[in-house]
Amino acid sequence: MTDLSPFKSLPSVDRLLQTDSLSSLRARVGHAAVKSACQRSLQEIRDGLAQGDDFVQTWLLSAGFIDEFCAHITKHVESEFASSLVPVFNLTGTVLHTNLGRSRLPDSAVTAMAIAATNAVNVEYDLELGERGDRDIHLTRSLQDVTGGEAATVVNNNAAAVLLVLNSLAAGKEVLISRGELVEIGGSFRIPDVMASAGCVLREVGTTNRTHLTDYANAICPATGLIMKVHTSNYEIRGFTNTVSEVELAALAHEHNIPFVFDLGSGTLLDLQPFGLPHEPTVQEVLAVGTDLVTFSGDKLLGGPQAGLVVGKHSLVQKLKANPLKRALRVDKITLAALIDVINLYKDPARLTERLPLFADLMRPLAEIEALGERVLTVMQLVLGKHATVALVATRSQIGSGALPLDLLESRALEITVAAPKGQRDADLQRLAFALRSLPKPVIGRINNNRLLLDLRCLRDEAAFIDQLSALRF
Ligand SMILES: *Cc1c(COP(=O)(O)O)cnc(C)c1O
Repeated sequence: MTDLSPFKSLPSVDRLLQTDSLSSLRARVGHAAVKSACQRSLQEIRDGLAQGDDFVQTWLLSAGFIDEFCAHITKHVESEFASSLVPVFNLTGTVLHTNLGRSRLPDSAVTAMAIAATNAVNVEYDLELGERGDRDIHLTRSLQDVTGGEAATVVNNNAAAVLLVLNSLAAGKEVLISRGELVEIGGSFRIPDVMASAGCVLREVGTTNRTHLTDYANAICPATGLIMKVHTSNYEIRGFTNTVSEVELAALAHEHNIPFVFDLGSGTLLDLQPFGLPHEPTVQEVLAVGTDLVTFSGDKLLGGPQAGLVVGKHSLVQKLKANPLKRALRVDKITLAALIDVINLYKDPARLTERLPLFADLMRPLAEIEALGERVLTVMQLVLGKHATVALVATRSQIGSGALPLDLLESRALEITVAAPKGQRDADLQRLAFALRSLPKPVIGRINNNRLLLDLRCLRDEAAFIDQLSALRF
């Protein structure tokens, strides 16, 4: 027995800071953070000793203490510096998942973003005149080429685009919209609320299932500011229905000298039918029939960064640009750089599937998903062992973000079921789902009908997925 107080064995803060491991940590995160972590950790040890904690005392007196203690401190400091924004595996079966950040961007866009981020750029500077320029100009020509629209402007997201259009063109006036289009998009974007925020008076026409041209015509009065159509992208009314076409609405609006605006939501620039997807109205088609302004998202079917685009008539776009709200809603240079790159990809549609991650995911061949599924199935069965049954099953993924709401894309999923008695099954599945979300790169699936489904359509880094499964604690 040594009569030396264990407190005497405590290393000094300075000694800890001089170790190789904490020196290199200091070089990465700075002296102050490491020093205060040392002080806190030493205090924990002192508290343990004061309480007569045998485990702490044995650890302190063991040969490996300094190394282990430094590793413990490193872990603490690293977790303090870790971002809470982390990459995840999106195996939800929803390709454009709003809560998981929608589109993944192409490498070329990421390069463009890095250049814009690390340099001074002429985001709003006219190089020819040497004076203040126009932020939208960088996109206008490409959008004209691709959509046929006269002019364009870009804001933070499509909700902002709709708000800007309504406020610029119809504040204090009535906006005619079909009752069947008073939609809620999710995340608290509801047409009536946006209308109110924009200072417009909502004038609904027609009925939920049927609206006719005469409904609009009868509602037009001197207070009418514009006619609006909203693409009801996230639900469908079937059966005895009638909606009025854009051609007719544009003609009616122009007869009365008011603008006709179409909020497309997903806004695709490409006919998706040749890719085996159902037809969604394209921005080009909608403009071609006389729509004055079209609004759509940058990160839905376009496959770009979060943004809201407005394309259409020059005189109306000028009104949006003159609105102080535009200044509040404008995009930054990094978003702009990504958007320029993505829109340019549309000039070569044949290569979009290989260049745009969204299209690669949407058009991913079933045989490829199936083969991937067979490989990960074996690993998952080994990992879960007797805790659960895993099978490779047919499923359907959806595009998501309100685009083409039906489950359309034939896919394959790992289906995990647990043998627990009925009352406990749900708790067990929830526990497994939590364990998967707790992995270094969280895996997000979906629970449906007493099973956990991991849709493999969007699983790209197979090796990383498999590697981390050994860390699964279930
Ligand atoms: C998604 C959507 C919006 C909102 O777009 P964000 O880019 O998410 O702001 C607005 N209108 C329609 C019809 C939509 O589908």
